[in-house]
Amino acid sequence: MKNKFYITTPIYYVNDRPHIGHAYTTIAADVSARYHRTKGEDVIFLTGTDENSQKTVEGAKKSGEDVKTYADRLAAIWKSTWEALNIGNTDFIRTTEERHVKTVQEIWKRIWDNGDIYKGKYEGLYCKGHEAFMKEVDLVDGVCSDHKTKPEWIAEDNYFFKLKKYEKDLLKLYGDNPNFVTPEGRFHEVKSFVERGLEDISISREKQEWGIPVPNDNKHVIYVWFDALINYISAIGIDGWQKHPADVHAIGKDIIRFHAVIWPAMLMSAKLPLPKRIVTNGFFTIDGVKISKSLGNAIDPLDLAKKYGVDALRYFLLREIPYGEDGDFSEVKLKERYNADLANGLGNLVARVATLGEKVSPIKYNYTHPLHKLLKEAHEEYDYKISTFRFDEALEIGWKRIAQSDAALSVDQPWYKEGSERAEKILSRCIELVIITDLLEPFLPETAQKIKDQISYDRTNKVFHIKKTENLFPRK
Ligand SMILES: [Zn+2]
Repeated sequence: MKNKFYITTPIYYVNDRPHIGHAYTTIAADVSARYHRTKGEDVIFLTGTDENSQKTVEGAKKSGEDVKTYADRLAAIWKSTWEALNIGNTDFIRTTEERHVKTVQEIWKRIWDNGDIYKGKYEGLYCKGHEAFMKEVDLVDGVCSDHKTKPEWIAEDNYFFKLKKYEKDLLKLYGDNPNFVTPEGRFHEVKSFVERGLEDISISREKQEWGIPVPNDNKHVIYVWFDALINYISAIGIDGWQKHPADVHAIGKDIIRFHAVIWPAMLMSAKLPLPKRIVTNGFFTIDGVKISKSLGNAIDPLDLAKKYGVDALRYFLLREIPYGEDGDFSEVKLKERYNADLANGLGNLVARVATLGEKVSPIKYNYTHPLHKLLKEAHEEYDYKISTFRFDEALEIGWKRIAQSDAALSVDQPWYKEGSERAEKILSRCIELVIITDLLEPFLPETAQKIKDQISYDRTNKVFHIKKTENLFPRK
């Protein structure tokens, strides 16, 4: 039976278009999904949109549409953006879908039946930007430090979830699973947060019209985060989750507490298995400045993809900004890497091998060649890097090999004039390109296909066919 691999991205709010930070999170998950697919695994890759938020209502009001029309329009933008960036998600969930609403109400009932939901009065601060209840200690000078807005004071009847009850179980979970959250520093923050003591949390809002109604009490809607987290189950069904929960939730660091504290507690209460791992990426700045709506500096990833190509953008983001760390995006750096790594590096190597090889194509080859051993060794280190989300280091392995191959080509250049020697030397470069192409495929799927079109291996007849076509990365 095939191994299963289930990976998710966050579901994104539909009050805006995707920016470069969302693209980073989603591309990283896509690389992981593609990698697991090359291993022959049965991959489920889920992304989607979080639509039951008040942000959706406000967005609709601003653009003068009714809420449903607005949500439909925005969800379509997110969907088509991921298609354009060659994201190979197998499903796209919207939290306004029937399958999700039903699952959320079912999970609510399970938690209710377990005695973990009670009615009470909530009085406190609420940040609309976060869609979250805040504490005084979370504020800087009375405002939310992420949203620069003053949270509103709300007092209303709410349903509460007994989060505190799960304190010990959560700490045990963290102790038993040292890789539950990466990077380590962020896991440490989560642990200390729980160690300081948890409080029960409000999981409903009163007097809101948009959202999923609380079962048996439609004066309340379910708190958007409680609803949103459940999307990971809605997509595959409760039975599906029971059999195989998510292997990886890939998220941004701002939503770590929801995923590493509230979500496991909800699952424990609903008597469902836990996700295996949560990986978090950092925040982005643009030319050193934080991305913000008010500054209008959010970059549309589609504009960059149009200018430099989808693969170049995918490559740049994961190579330049180590997964887990905060990073700075700059188009100047993108252009530099494009010319140095892609045009002069990979593109030039493929062009040289194809030009020289075309003259001696086809070349006989079988996998007893000594270089074949190299292929395996290269992959061991790479496997480790990529399965631990060290994407920049995995790419470095590929580029080291590109440099070596390029150097060997220059040293051997004089030999290419001779007949039999020439074919043998070119063969070595072709084998190296097969290795390199395998390594790069999850990151640069289109480019990998273009290389295979130029240097193709015919397994039945055990020959390489080489044909020079277009330049992969014309200089910018
Ligand atoms: Zn906030």
